[in-house]
Amino acid sequence: MEHRDLIACHECDSLFRKPPRLRGLVAHCSSCGASMKGVRHAALTLDRVCAVTVAALITFLIAQAFPVLELETEGLTSHATLFEAVRSLWQGHMHIVAALVFCTTMLFPSFELAALLYLLLPLRAGRVPRAFDAVLRAVQFVRPWGMTEVFMLGVLITIVKMVSLARVIPGTSLFAFGALTLMFCVIAAFDPCMLWEIRDEVMNRGVAGAGSTRRYRKRRAADEGAQGGAALADSAATTCVTAKHAGLIACHCCGLVHSRNAQASDRRCARCGCALHERRPESVTRTFGLLLAAAMLYIPANLLPIMHTSTLGRAEDDTILGGIAYFWRSGDWPLAAIVFVASVMVPMLKLAILTLQTVAAYRGSDWQPLERAKLYRMVERIGRWSMLDVFVVSLTVALVHFGSLAQITAGPGALAFGSVVVLTMLASNAFDPRLIWDNVRLRPARARGRS
Ligand SMILES: [Zn+2]
Ligand SMILES: [Zn+2]
Repeated sequence: MEHRDLIACHECDSLFRKPPRLRGLVAHCSSCGASMKGVRHAALTLDRVCAVTVAALITFLIAQAFPVLELETEGLTSHATLFEAVRSLWQGHMHIVAALVFCTTMLFPSFELAALLYLLLPLRAGRVPRAFDAVLRAVQFVRPWGMTEVFMLGVLITIVKMVSLARVIPGTSLFAFGALTLMFCVIAAFDPCMLWEIRDEVMNRGVAGAGSTRRYRKRRAADEGAQGGAALADSAATTCVTAKHAGLIACHCCGLVHSRNAQASDRRCARCGCALHERRPESVTRTFGLLLAAAMLYIPANLLPIMHTSTLGRAEDDTILGGIAYFWRSGDWPLAAIVFVASVMVPMLKLAILTLQTVAAYRGSDWQPLERAKLYRMVERIGRWSMLDVFVVSLTVALVHFGSLAQITAGPGALAFGSVVVLTMLASNAFDPRLIWDNVRLRPARARGRS
């Protein structure tokens, strides 16, 4: 049974009564400080999100159609679109890296934009589109993997890198990517979890499609038939701190709070259809396994060459650290610092912080929960920026193909490095942040002292 008037923090499982619509404000959890998912605020109306999404989709098509950069040297010219960058990697037998660049810069961002429009336009008109649940779940899944802003920084670094070798002419696509980055910042401020609430409101008004409405009414009838249970759970919510202690489970995907049913071990959410779990199953084991794989690949990622350069019969291999040293020696120390932070420090920090979180969760530690929660949030935010070097390599490979004069191909280091980024992102996704707080709540007196 569902409790639509309750909301649980996705990071610490604290239970609250759902606030009314907020006027341009974002609600934060009073225990851990995380911004609450699915709480609707009026700053970004559906109309505004729709307008920005349409503009972003048009800009995205322009960005794909024209070259990002052009190179001119010794009377020879070369240009590269984003698709050509992916094709160069594919032809250089870097299939996995090519697939990674294609998914993060083309497939996932375009899917997010098209799917958002597919959901938003009918909702604005008071209808629920077909396959709403599956499309919204897919939007929530692909969102962290779209990396347009990281690619944009990669283009800027490639320009600085190439300027000493040849004349660099910015292409139309570069400006389109700049505009697209800003638009994605606006779209990122829109929490797709809100669409579950909006869908419920639309269906409640009785203007949804006939099939969906029948299903919804059936569910509402089931809810209303169990009013006694709801009253019990509500009173529990006012006295207990977390959803788990109140005998409730919040859906990972849409946030809807359900009563825990001891008999049904694999229950599904009544709203989005996702499997319901009190905590992500095998969270610590899976996170640790992914971290171990990432740590093992981090060594070849730094030791193996990320690029092979052949100039007039002379071959040279570049590692990530070699590239940073090159920037430093040529006086581009701000650039050396950016690449060092994104490619060396961020992956190391991610590995160290996630290892700390996993060990602490495994040992049942209640040490500094607020600081650990902040560290976890930081890892979630910065993880994607490590893809920077992979994007620089893909653009450089596509741009520099001047026959026997100069040729650059991607090296095995790029594959190892891309794998480290993906594995650490999967690891932070597999870790359940509510494990940080579970042990704190076993000691209520200490928890009260901290707050
Ligand atoms: Zn919280
Ligand atoms: Zn759900």
